[in-house]
Amino acid sequence: MSIVIVGAGQAGLQIAESLRRGGYEGRVLLLGDESFAPYQRPPLSKKYLADDMADERLQFRPVEQLTKQNIEFRPLTTVTAIDRAAGEVVLASGERVAYEGLALTTGTRVRPLPVPGAEHPAVCYLRGLDDAKRLRSQLASAARVLVIGGGFIGLEVAATARHAGKTVTVVETLDRLMARAVAPVVSEYFAELHRGHGVELRFKVALTAIAGNPDGSLTATLSDGSTVDADLLVAGIGVLPNQELAAAAGLECANGIVVDEFARTSDPRIVAAGDCTWHINRRFAAPLRLESVQNAVDQGKIAAQSLLGNAVPYQDLPWFWSDQYDVKLQMVGLSQAHDSLVVRGAPESAAFSVFYFKAGELLGVDSINRPAEHMLARKLMSLGISPSPDAVADTGFDLKTLLPAP
Ligand SMILES: Cc1cc2nc3c(=O)[nH]c(=O)nc-3n(C[C@H](O)[C@H](O)[C@H](O)COP(=O)(O)OP(=O)(O)OC[C@H]3O[C@@H](n4cnc5c(N)ncnc54)[C@H](O)[C@@H]3O)c2cc1C
Repeated sequence: MSIVIVGAGQAGLQIAESLRRGGYEGRVLLLGDESFAPYQRPPLSKKYLADDMADERLQFRPVEQLTKQNIEFRPLTTVTAIDRAAGEVVLASGERVAYEGLALTTGTRVRPLPVPGAEHPAVCYLRGLDDAKRLRSQLASAARVLVIGGGFIGLEVAATARHAGKTVTVVETLDRLMARAVAPVVSEYFAELHRGHGVELRFKVALTAIAGNPDGSLTATLSDGSTVDADLLVAGIGVLPNQELAAAAGLECANGIVVDEFARTSDPRIVAAGDCTWHINRRFAAPLRLESVQNAVDQGKIAAQSLLGNAVPYQDLPWFWSDQYDVKLQMVGLSQAHDSLVVRGAPESAAFSVFYFKAGELLGVDSINRPAEHMLARKLMSLGISPSPDAVADTGFDLKTLLPAP
């Protein structure tokens, strides 16, 4: 008996360890194409980039702890094909590894810049530890940093670069920051935060070309004809799910590997979890793809249960965070479909929350420097308790009183 896990990231490690915790006694092979043992990605744009965190602290566990759990972790091992008829995966080396159960946790890769000159050596992306090492070393010698993309990763990099004293410009094609994830009031708060720290924000313009200069720097041309000179360009324009392996094996794919609420693909012997999945969560009517630690961990647990023969439906509440300067943004739920919102607290005070509603039902909450309110919102939402917009708007009303008595 053996279970093969393709991709040794957050979700892959979760599945391996959940299998052991669930009493699985067969072989567990965790195959990863990177050279590192499984590590956390969130610090790569935050503390690690700021040179404030050692490599060892990025790792989830020392490799010996995987060995102790009898998890066979193989780095630098790329799976190139799945032979479903034979029940084997094919490695880049040509070796074939048999499986009774297979988990795909292949994550995502960065979306490349679609402009001429994008191969310039001063252009960096940020997905893995190799990228972060390269970016960190180039950042150290750069004076002017141009960030393409005003989403979470771009803004975290901008904050870290600014903190290190660099001149920073952020270019965003939309008219506000983090536009797909947060309300305008939150975008505006973060725009003021970055401007207050000296970042130049350029909205409603796109990068159209990159040209190299003799001194090794680059000149970026924007869609309005203007140019920006920089020593380093960091692109944070989104990611693409690694689903080609699944698609080539005939598994159903959409914007990710399609899985049901039990993290099962269209082949009952194969599960998938994490950033690479287009999945069903019982809380939501439509399938979705999430890029978050919460989803990798919680869906990983569900996938492991399915491999153990237990059909446990995925219904966990999504949550997420982002650190920019000394500001913590914490989000719970999915708020995109809201038809009204209530701001609790004052943005000027740098501590407030935005409660999003649809037809009076709470969809999600974004908290800025309000960790206790974030945790309370998580509790309320996981219990299915929806405070009324009026109760939320009344800052004198203690939302904790809505929780059931202990
Ligand atoms: C810079 C950065 C900052 C982030 N910050 C936050 C944050 O603040 N909060 C938050 O919730 N989330 C954050 N995230 C997102 C979070 O890290 C991801 O959602 C999470 O890592 C997803 O886990 P995963 O296992 O699905 O994918 P990954 O962690 O990407 O792991 C997938 C692994 O599979 C490997 N792989 C792919 N194909 C193959 C193959 N064919 N053979 C072998 N191996 C393969 C990949 O190389 C990779 O190692 C951040 C991500 C990044 C990059």
